[in-house]
Amino acid sequence: MPRAKRFFTADLHIHSCLSACAELDMTPKRIIRRALAEGLDIIAIADHNSCENLEAALGLARETGISLLPAMEIASAEEVHVLALFDDPQAAFGMQEKVYASLPADLENDPAFWGEQVVVGEDDLVLGFNPRLLAGATGMPLEGLVSAIHDLGGLAIASHVDREAFSVISQLGFIPDGVRFDALEVSRGRVPSCVEASGLPAVRSSDAHRLESVGKQRTRFLLEGASFSEIALALKSEDGRKAVID
Ligand SMILES: [Zn+2]
Ligand SMILES: [Zn+2]
Repeated sequence: MPRAKRFFTADLHIHSCLSACAELDMTPKRIIRRALAEGLDIIAIADHNSCENLEAALGLARETGISLLPAMEIASAEEVHVLALFDDPQAAFGMQEKVYASLPADLENDPAFWGEQVVVGEDDLVLGFNPRLLAGATGMPLEGLVSAIHDLGGLAIASHVDREAFSVISQLGFIPDGVRFDALEVSRGRVPSCVEASGLPAVRSSDAHRLESVGKQRTRFLLEGASFSEIALALKSEDGRKAVID
């Protein structure tokens, strides 16, 4: 017998202090506290080409009961940002390995120019700084990147398709036939006609780089529970599940 469904509120694109462009107080602890205050049920911390704050975030999420999906925002070789969501943390770490192997080895972060890339523990203590320039393009072409995410059991969502930089539309002008996105992310305002024409589900997330932005853009998912597998089913509109953006 199917379980009863209800709406769960999600913000699936939040940067932590590991992203150089995010504010330093974006620690997993403060993000989760803010997400709870915003009434969010499901969140994903998606840093640029890395998930080194995932362990702390998962530990804190377990304590608070919020559902946290392992994630990363990966830049393809074409500089298309793709949100990668996973069920299994080990799959996210596996993806991180592939991403690190395809990032230019010789590019170092200049904290004075780009900002620090901070790895933190559950207690907000600094564990270290990632020395590589994480935010740039990987060597992974878009189609291969999306396939690699799927091979690890993940979902691939095209980031902020309505923005003028680092989106599949801004970089390529269209969504190539061979690229099998699971959803398209819209930042704010009206859903662009290219999203409606794509036949793919639209989601909305904050892409928060500061605490005040967490949950300010959100998607409501009609689900049987707050889990990765339920979201995957909702993106396929299985059995009455769905993603709703206002
Ligand atoms: Zn982005
Ligand atoms: Zn982002």
